Amino acid sequence: MEYPFWKLREWTPDLPEGRVDNIYIHWSAHDYRSVFPAYHFCVALDDDGDIIVVNTHDVRENMRNVYDAPDEPYAAHTRKRNSFALGISVMGMQDSKPGDFGPYPLTPELIDALCLVAAKLASRYGVPVDAEHIMTHAEAGLLDGYFGTEPQQRWDIARLQPDLRPLVPQDALDAGEELRLRIRRFS
Ligand SMILES: [Zn+2]
Repeated sequence: MEYPFWKLREWTPDLPEGRVDNIYIHWSAHDYRSVFPAYHFCVALDDDGDIIVVNTHDVRENMRNVYDAPDEPYAAHTRKRNSFALGISVMGMQDSKPGDFGPYPLTPELIDALCLVAAKLASRYGVPVDAEHIMTHAEAGLLDGYFGTEPQQRWDIARLQPDLRPLVPQDALDAGEELRLRIRRFS
């Protein structure tokens, strides 16, 4: 692995000083092991099947208004919302649909790990655990007009479990609230 990583229980991040206003929560829509520098921290599985936290992007590169100098490197995790914002993601959900999460489904353990990562980052940077400051990509998509399952739309993380009901905006709001509840429990 080319990035720093830790077993979840050994993750004691040495996080640099700086301004972080928001944290955005994603899934990768790939398998459990592939990680991506579009996010700052990825929750993945290692070869033993243990949950690991992978630091795929330097948080300092998003501690600025990235749109002032868009050619400088930064983690492009959430459209138009990358300034002073961290992106975290759980690996999985390749070929998923709202009613069938496919071969790499979210698991309770992975979701808990993602919430623990969010809680530690929120605590370190003083980010309030509320819907204004910590939201899913799906909630950002709702606000910015690209929520949904079409290729140009996003629905991560609008459901924590598959359900054959049609996906609706309320799913995104409910899942966001559930994630924030779990993040507060780790805070
Ligand atoms: Zn996303």
